[in-house]
Amino acid sequence: MKVTFDDVSVSLGGTPIVHHVSLDVPTGSVLGLLGPNGCGKSTLLRTLYRVNKPSAGTVRVDGDDVRRLSARDAALRIAVMAQESSQEFPMTAREVVMLGRVPHQRGFGADSARDLGLVKEALHDVGASALGHRYFAGLSGGEKQRILLARALVQESPVLVLDEPTNHLDISFQLELMQLVSGRGLTVLAALHDINLAAEFCDHVAVLKAGRLQAFGRPDDVLDEGLIRSTFGVDSRKLVHPLTGRALIAVAPPSKISAAPSAASR
Ligand code: ADP
Ligand code: MG
Repeated sequence: MKVTFDDVSVSLGGTPIVHHVSLDVPTGSVLGLLGPNGCGKSTLLRTLYRVNKPSAGTVRVDGDDVRRLSARDAALRIAVMAQESSQEFPMTAREVVMLGRVPHQRGFGADSARDLGLVKEALHDVGASALGHRYFAGLSGGEKQRILLARALVQESPVLVLDEPTNHLDISFQLELMQLVSGRGLTVLAALHDINLAAEFCDHVAVLKAGRLQAFGRPDDVLDEGLIRSTFGVDSRKLVHPLTGRALIAVAPPSKISAAPSAASR
């Protein structure tokens, strides 16, 4: 299911935050949203899941303006793993995951065998089968992230929004998560801080700075030393990942950069 941002601007509390962003996210592709803290990544993503109303422009899912969808239809199309994972659900982890099935349920019917099966499968997929009976509030940050991902997956929505999904995660599960979400044919929009994770797993990256789109395209085409400097203010070298062949951006603070590139290996 295709997602389109058409000249989207957003103001918060009267302050313009996002300016005229246009983006096409093709069906089944993975978009990485990159940019410094406070550049508007979350603000833009929230227009897709309708927490923020654009001050101008339109966000479409499968051609339909998201603001015209019913809450249930929006949930059937778009699942979200948001940044604020501090919600203190007074529930077990399994019950939290089951919340993802609510858009599929009518009234207060009991969970169906299919609902229970999907929850079990999702807990397994995110490596959290052993956590189902634990209270969500008592889990570690990384464990909560796994549960919230499982909740988003059981929703079975074709569009998946991930806002900094790899916060709190160890490197092994960061890779696992990106592998998991990129291998399901979903249209994924993920705000990421790790440029190299984006280079590795995203079909396209969109780079924001101060609410404006700086670049959009394939990671290999878009991510280069000039863009990294102008966006993040750091020096870098663009390398080829020795294991995957994808772009690899090596960054360093100015004080650590020596004239001889081979110095690091001495
Ligand atoms: P990112 O996710 O890229 O780190 P955000 O989208 O969360 O950035 O925030 C973008 C900017 O909007 C930040 O400068 C933030 O301080 C500002 N902002 C967020 N909420 C409000 C608000 N209610 N009123 C004014 N500014 C806000
Ligand atoms: Mg954010």
